[in-house]
Amino acid sequence: VSAVQMRGVEKIYHRGSTSVAALAGVDIDFERGTFTAVMGPSGSGKSTLLHCAAGLDQPTSGKVLLDGVDLTGKNETELTMLRRDRIGFIFQAFNLLPALTGEQNIVLPLELAGRKVNKARLREVVDSVGLGERVKHRPAELSGGQQQRIAIARALIAQPAVIFADEPTGALDLRTARDILSLLAQSVHQLGQTIVMVTHDPVAASYADRVVFLADGRIATEMYRPTAHAVA
Ligand code: ADP
Repeated sequence: VSAVQMRGVEKIYHRGSTSVAALAGVDIDFERGTFTAVMGPSGSGKSTLLHCAAGLDQPTSGKVLLDGVDLTGKNETELTMLRRDRIGFIFQAFNLLPALTGEQNIVLPLELAGRKVNKARLREVVDSVGLGERVKHRPAELSGGQQQRIAIARALIAQPAVIFADEPTGALDLRTARDILSLLAQSVHQLGQTIVMVTHDPVAASYADRVVFLADGRIATEMYRPTAHAVA
């Protein structure tokens, strides 16, 4: 089973008397253990695709299966539970809570879900993203790259079926961006994670093993990158 299956997904927005098809019939699978970059011009439907795939938005028609679960007809409470159990998010702006330490930010989603935080798992995740003792600091005391490492650890800790990333390196300098992208690629290849990443940046996309191009709400073309950056 694919991590995400989208079948005939349409999303229509109405503006006064006109309507816009943000997604005009999208059929795509995101296989387990793959890293896909979604590219395309502004307004081509990238955010809408990410939001529909993640159960943040309901398609107007069509079907989305997330980790084998059909999202069609689920109510907000059910969708929230599904996201909690099966999805991690990484955003351009990190979205960390400033009053909490890195470590507290990482475990917050687990605590909100009423789940026990396993100390060994926390250590493992903190080590895997290369944070070390920095994790005891609050976001304001950390660099952008360190803040994004916290956000990645937060997304990884519950071992979700899929991680959705929306321009995760948009606020980082090139060097730091490359470190973060290597980390994401590594979590796909070593931990079998599935990542779907929206990006404008060809450098970021070069770390994915598949690149999907959207145009006018449709998949215009896609390519596989057997030569994606090798992971040490
Ligand atoms: P991208 O992420 O590629 O920039 P979006 O998915 O944000 O594209 O938008 C796709 C299209 O849908 C655009 O024409 C955009 O203006 C429209 N759109 C997106 N969200 C809304 C909304 N909430 N209301 C109306 N139109 C929207």
